[in-house]
Amino acid sequence: MQLKELNGIGEKTEKVFQRAGVYTVEDLLSYYPRYYDTFEEPVLIRNLEADRTQAVIGNIVREISVRRVRNLQIVDAYIRDEEGNGIKATWFNAPYIKNTLHQGDVLIFRGFVHENKGSYVIDQPKTFSFVQYQKKMGEMQPVYPLVSGLTNNMVLKAVRQAFQIVSKNENIPLAIRERFGLQNAEDSIHNIHFPKNQKDFMIARKRLVFEEFFQFILTLRALKEKNEIIHNKHILKEPKELEHIIDNLGFQLTNAQMKTWQEIKHDISSDKVMNRLIQGDVGSGKTIVAVLALLTAALNKEQGAMMAPTEVLARQHFEDIKDIIRNNNLKLTPVVLVGSMTAKEKREAYQLIESGEADIIIGTHALIQDKVNYHKLALVVTDEQHRFGVKQRETISEKGDSPHTMVMSATPIPRTLAIIMYGDLDISIIDELPAGRKPIANCVVGTDYRPNAYNFIEKQVQEGRQAYIICPTVEYSEAVEGENVIEYAKKLQAVLSPSIHVDFLHGRMKAAEKNEKMEAFAENKIQVLVSTTVVEVGVNVPNATVMMVENAERFGLAQLHQLRGRVGRGGNQSYCIFINGTGKKDASERLEILNRSNDGFFIASEDLKLRGPGDFFGVRQSGDFEFRLGDIMNDADVLKNAAHAVDLIENNEVYISEEERRELYKNENKMINI
Ligand code: ADP
Ligand code: MG
Repeated sequence: MQLKELNGIGEKTEKVFQRAGVYTVEDLLSYYPRYYDTFEEPVLIRNLEADRTQAVIGNIVREISVRRVRNLQIVDAYIRDEEGNGIKATWFNAPYIKNTLHQGDVLIFRGFVHENKGSYVIDQPKTFSFVQYQKKMGEMQPVYPLVSGLTNNMVLKAVRQAFQIVSKNENIPLAIRERFGLQNAEDSIHNIHFPKNQKDFMIARKRLVFEEFFQFILTLRALKEKNEIIHNKHILKEPKELEHIIDNLGFQLTNAQMKTWQEIKHDISSDKVMNRLIQGDVGSGKTIVAVLALLTAALNKEQGAMMAPTEVLARQHFEDIKDIIRNNNLKLTPVVLVGSMTAKEKREAYQLIESGEADIIIGTHALIQDKVNYHKLALVVTDEQHRFGVKQRETISEKGDSPHTMVMSATPIPRTLAIIMYGDLDISIIDELPAGRKPIANCVVGTDYRPNAYNFIEKQVQEGRQAYIICPTVEYSEAVEGENVIEYAKKLQAVLSPSIHVDFLHGRMKAAEKNEKMEAFAENKIQVLVSTTVVEVGVNVPNATVMMVENAERFGLAQLHQLRGRVGRGGNQSYCIFINGTGKKDASERLEILNRSNDGFFIASEDLKLRGPGDFFGVRQSGDFEFRLGDIMNDADVLKNAAHAVDLIENNEVYISEEERRELYKNENKMINI
């Protein structure tokens, strides 16, 4: 049902919802709150803490004023509490506040408190009378994920209406629900939006997480069944050139790389088709193993394709492969295919791919478009596979006649979970870093360390090295993604020597622009790159030796570990500076885990221990697997139960009605992204 059917949603609002991924009224039901706000006792102004939402009781002491800063209208109010301490409240683009609040009003102001030039400001506080506030305390208010133009109230109103009109189908059979103590669909979906208390929420969440995993595993199993019966139509033998290529790499393959390569070689020359996951920590050297396989396919006069999640990464792989082909005088034709190419360039690429002239094809999602027809696709590699849906993985395979598939992942998860999550694949593990890597030196520091950090970066650049600085996107302010990095880059440029080129990169930039900047950085035309986490995915610039992360406390440790993996890729000593923006001790403690180890798996499990199960609203543990609610590490038990449930169904050990069975497989094309 269309969103426009709801009261208060016209064409414009519909578009805003679409940007948040909500297209239908049904979608609203699964647009889950990000967390729940519980109203706490108001505090005295002198007890306020920065970077938290808090409430104060106060008296508006001056006339409310409105000022303009660039294109923003800012309303200021000055509030004083019973002890006579004061704080400023500000609202952005809300001039009507001036008509609703007045000097002399005594109210409760609740908002995000932040520090500005030494004094506290309360951002966009909501105001309440004592009675109103009393009522709110004890309730759990859903807080929804937002995009610009969308407010929590808009979502709330829409969700409330949606519940009047549509309902959620039950897609977990009764026998399974009973066995694993799961709530029914209708209650759980209601309580995830409007839980009365923590307990209600937990019960609802458990069922919905189970459902996500359960659906996912069902899909994987179906895939596996399909794959298992396939015979190898592309027998790829080791080409005679390969030994020379390996000798010519400029480094010695690690034992783990060799072992993985042997496993792949065995698979692709056997009588069954290969479906293999290559799991290896960041920097363990997965790419070269994939490249060897691609070269093998090409030298067997067939085609090999590799799909990467970003254009930057795809182009980088392409350049690396071109180098190897050149260095070894191979008569091969690699082709790149990415979205930002001109129509003409794309047509040329399509033509080369279709005629079979291109034997190695590197690209992004562009590789799976309808227009791309492969001549003789024998091998498909997906890099950073967690960024693609299972469906996309399958789509590219369907482009060929049962090609071999290989997916690569740096996600550190225990083997027991890996077996569930990658149920359709065999697993190779690269558990060794190339020799001669110097361990990265880490530090966790407060914001007052910034001048030292900039000094340090300046020195590193003077020595010929480069640096990344990562800024998170700020959610509570109206700032759009990108604004931070642009401002930050400007400020930093003023601090560093003019000869140092500081530039920025963010997710909202056009792909072509991102490529240009990334290439300029790779060529050391940019020395300091201020970026959002778009650089996280696999980019390789070995000359970069400093990774500085602002507001590191807002990232998951696994993600920070990925970010750290962008440095320490060459022979030079590398450094990681994690800035704890809150100055809080528990955040520092968490970040210190990164200090203790460079092992992604260790980090993930320590993080889990520290936070404890039930800590759902912190940063997600394994941001890689994009389930809406579930987190494979935090909810490992639920994941195991869901896998068990699928076993029971497959082995006919539980009773399932015909109708339930139909419902089970209905969602099969609604893929979850892993
Ligand atoms: P990841 O596993 O994170 O994808 P990459 O494949 O990008 O890692 O490799 C990281 C860096 O290590 C690259 O610069 C690559 O050339 C280099 N490398 C890979 N294998 C070895 C090795 N055996 N010895 C030395 N350097 C290597
Ligand atoms: Mg990689």
